[in-house]
Amino acid sequence: MRVAVVGGGLAGLTAAHLLSRAGADVVVLEGSPRAGGKLRRERVGDLVLDVGAESILARRPEGLDLISRLGLDDDVVHPSLGQATVWTRDALRPLPRSVMGVPADLDALRASGILGELPDGRSVPVPDEDVSVRAFLEPRVGAEVVDRLVEPLLGGVYAGHSDQLSLRAAAPQVLALGADPLAAALATEPHPPGTPVFAGLRGGVARLAETLAAGDFELRLDAPVRVVTRTGSGWELAVGPTSAIETITADAVVVATPAPATARLLAEAAPAAAFALAGLDYASMAIVTLVVDGPLAAEGSGFLVPPVDGTTIKASTFSSQKWPWLAEEAAGASVLRASIGRRGETAILHQDDETVVELAAADLRRALGELPPVLASHVQRWGGALPQYDVGHLELVDGVEAAVASVPGLEVCGAAYRGIGIPAVIASAQAAVDRLLGQERIES
Ligand SMILES: Cc1cc2nc3c(=O)[nH]c(=O)nc-3n(C[C@H](O)[C@H](O)[C@H](O)COP(=O)(O)OP(=O)(O)OC[C@H]3O[C@@H](n4cnc5c(N)ncnc54)[C@H](O)[C@@H]3O)c2cc1C
Repeated sequence: MRVAVVGGGLAGLTAAHLLSRAGADVVVLEGSPRAGGKLRRERVGDLVLDVGAESILARRPEGLDLISRLGLDDDVVHPSLGQATVWTRDALRPLPRSVMGVPADLDALRASGILGELPDGRSVPVPDEDVSVRAFLEPRVGAEVVDRLVEPLLGGVYAGHSDQLSLRAAAPQVLALGADPLAAALATEPHPPGTPVFAGLRGGVARLAETLAAGDFELRLDAPVRVVTRTGSGWELAVGPTSAIETITADAVVVATPAPATARLLAEAAPAAAFALAGLDYASMAIVTLVVDGPLAAEGSGFLVPPVDGTTIKASTFSSQKWPWLAEEAAGASVLRASIGRRGETAILHQDDETVVELAAADLRRALGELPPVLASHVQRWGGALPQYDVGHLELVDGVEAAVASVPGLEVCGAAYRGIGIPAVIASAQAAVDRLLGQERIES
């Protein structure tokens, strides 16, 4: 079977890897000059490091399983167990244990000084229909918990806002707390020490995509797919620059592009899916990386910022304190990264690189005190970076999947559907491949 995979990000590369292992003849068509999508490394000064995704949730198996299958086990690393903090009320304050921002330790919360007053929990019946994270939490734990604890965590994952993001799709762990989320969160046990929550790869998690891209399939770069058409016996794809369109044929197609591209590509083959996907919004953002000549004045792995504090940066990772491999390579220098841009806040992203670096560095100085001299900086812009799982997202995805399932030889996968983190994206590619091959699971 010949399969065309459209999009060479993590989803497309994983699908190609699994399909080729199952014996399919696979071509990956990647529109940009490089594969990997949001998994990407760049040189910043003397260092090569991640400028997109940088850590993998280790509590789900799919990321580490794939790494293992690719023979990268020896390069798996875990972050130093530093205290995460919130930069709010003019200080870096320890982030108390919580369930996606719903406090699980009131003593630690009081000591942190993050909130003006400790929250009073209320029990309110859980609605049958999906609601926004804020609509669910505000009546139960109060606005300040949402503003100063939930928003920064949601912002860190989705770059989105609690009054738009779906409780069911974006914060299922909060929904699982039930009618009285504060009481339920306070009753949770801390995670046992010694079980790492996150993992990375020595050299950067982009190596996962680079290793997949070197797999046993054809990978064509600078190959944007423009039209996907169903023919009597299979599929035709119009590929390449408008001045030199080439037709590629395949028995099946896996579309692993972000929703706006998928919507355009499926317009003829699956119009109902295309229509639904066209309504899926994305947040744009940028990652600013600074290499500075000396140690930082703060400990820990980084901080989040509540949007109510009105800063330019929404989070910062002290990368060389978080990842020991990077500290080794930095040899006395420090690496920090700051993320900029939330949904609907694009003005800052239109500034030139120099201005973006200056604004980020100014915020970092306010948070950390004076920084050592900057040796090198890098701005990675991610337009249309993160899909926004708004209220009703799971129904939207059910509809898309049903429409796609009615078209033989067509599958979709990627961050747009049932999870934007690395393990969820891998799971979505695995599920698409399983459906395509009509088997339960491809074993390694
Ligand atoms: C800055 C940032 C940091 C993140 N950090 C983390 C993290 O630390 N941990 C984590 O788990 N997740 C993180 N994520 C999320 C995660 O990286 C992404 O959700 C995931 O990598 C998306 O993979 P994907 O294959 O679905 O999409 P993408 O990576 O977007 O890949 C889609 C590919 O399709 C290509 N394409 C688009 N249109 C066409 C076309 N017409 N023809 C051909 N090709 C096309 C694109 O060029 C791209 O390469 C982060 C995301 C961002 C943006």
